[in-house]
Amino acid sequence: MIPFLDLKAPYLELKEELDDAIARVVSSGWFIGGPEVDAFEADYATYCGATHAVGVANGLDALHLALRAMDVGPGDEVIVPSNTYIATWLAVSQCGATPVPVEPDARTYNMDASLIEAAITPRTKVILPVHLYGQPADMDSILTIAHKHGLKVLEDGAQAHGAKYKGKPLGAHGDAVAWSFYPGKNLGAMGDGGVVTTNDAQLANRIRVLRNYGSRVKYVNEVQGYNSRLDPLQAAILSVKLKHLDGWNTRRRVFGTRYQQGLADCKLTIPFVPNWAEPVWHLYVVQHPQRDTLQKQLSDAGIGTMIHYPIPPHLQQAYAGLLHAQGSFPISEQIHKNLLSLPMGPAMRLEDVDMVIGAVRVIVSALS
Ligand SMILES: *Cc1c(COP(=O)(O)O)cnc(C)c1O
Repeated sequence: MIPFLDLKAPYLELKEELDDAIARVVSSGWFIGGPEVDAFEADYATYCGATHAVGVANGLDALHLALRAMDVGPGDEVIVPSNTYIATWLAVSQCGATPVPVEPDARTYNMDASLIEAAITPRTKVILPVHLYGQPADMDSILTIAHKHGLKVLEDGAQAHGAKYKGKPLGAHGDAVAWSFYPGKNLGAMGDGGVVTTNDAQLANRIRVLRNYGSRVKYVNEVQGYNSRLDPLQAAILSVKLKHLDGWNTRRRVFGTRYQQGLADCKLTIPFVPNWAEPVWHLYVVQHPQRDTLQKQLSDAGIGTMIHYPIPPHLQQAYAGLLHAQGSFPISEQIHKNLLSLPMGPAMRLEDVDMVIGAVRVIVSALS
C-alpha cells in the first residue's frame, strides 16, 4: 500500500521536539498571542525574505484580511485563476467584491499572464495569482501588468512554502503573500493556521488590527474587525517544523524529478516546469483523458491518489450567481476533468515513487 499522503509521519519524525514545544506552551499558561506567535512570525518572515509576517487563524482568513487591508470592498473586482481551490475566490466574495477568473497555462497550471489585461476593468483593484501545486506563478509578467494599471498584487502561497521564483523565495514579490498551515500543506500545523507576509509596514499593521477585533489598544476599536489569530500552540509547532521544511522540500524535489524522468515518455501529460521556477511539489499532478479508470486501477494496485480539484469554482453551486456557463473556461474545465494527483510527500521512499511510476506506465500503455 502506498498512501496518497502520510500525515502522521512528520510527528513521528520530530516527536521529541514537538512534544517539548507543546508541553512548553501548555505549561506557560499563555494561550492567545504572546512570545510563541511573535517568534514564529519573525522566523517565517526571515525564511521568506519578507520584513513582516502576521499570523492569522487559517489560509482563507490570510487572503481575506489581506484583501480587506488593501481596501477591497463591494463593487471592486479581483482577478483570480479559473483553476484554484475555491478559498481563493471565497476570500474575494467575503469582501463583497467579485472574483474575475483568468484561464491557466495548460502546461504549468498557473494563471496565464498574457490573458490578464483583457480581464482588467475600471473596477479591478487586485490581481491574485496562486502558486498552484507548489510551482511559482509568472510573477514578473504579472507585476509588470499590475504596475502599468496601478493594481495591487496579492499572492496565494498556500501550496508553495519554500518555492523560489528566479532564485528568490516567495514571500514578498507582490504586495503581500497569504499562506495556509492546513495540516496537509508543505508546512502544516496540527490544526488550522495562516499568515500574511509583506514588505509593506502599513499593510502589515492594518492586518494586525483587523485580526484582533479592529483593535490596537485593548478595548479601543478603530474598525469592525475579526477574531482571526494564530494559536500559540500551533505557532510553537510551526517553529519546530519550519526548521525541517527545506529538508522535506528537498525530498519532494527528488521525488518530483524522479516522476518527471520516469513518466517523460509515457502517454500522459506531466507538469511543465519553466526554467525560472523552483517548485516544491506540494502536489504532483498529471493529466490523462481516462483519468477515472487510471485512478481506479491505481487504487486496485494499492496506490492512493486524489483529484485537485473535481469541480472548478465557476461551476460550483456556490458561484451559480455569477452565471458562468459550462464551457466558459474550457482550459480549466479540461484540466479538472483529466487531472490526477499521484502520491507525494516527505515520508515517501524512492522505491515507492518507482513503484507508482511502474504501475502508471503499465496501466497507461494498456489504456492507449
Ligand atoms: C489550502 C488552501 C487555501 C486555504 O487555506 P485554509 O488554511 O484551509 O483556509 C487557500 N488557497 C489555496 C490555493 C489552498 O490550497
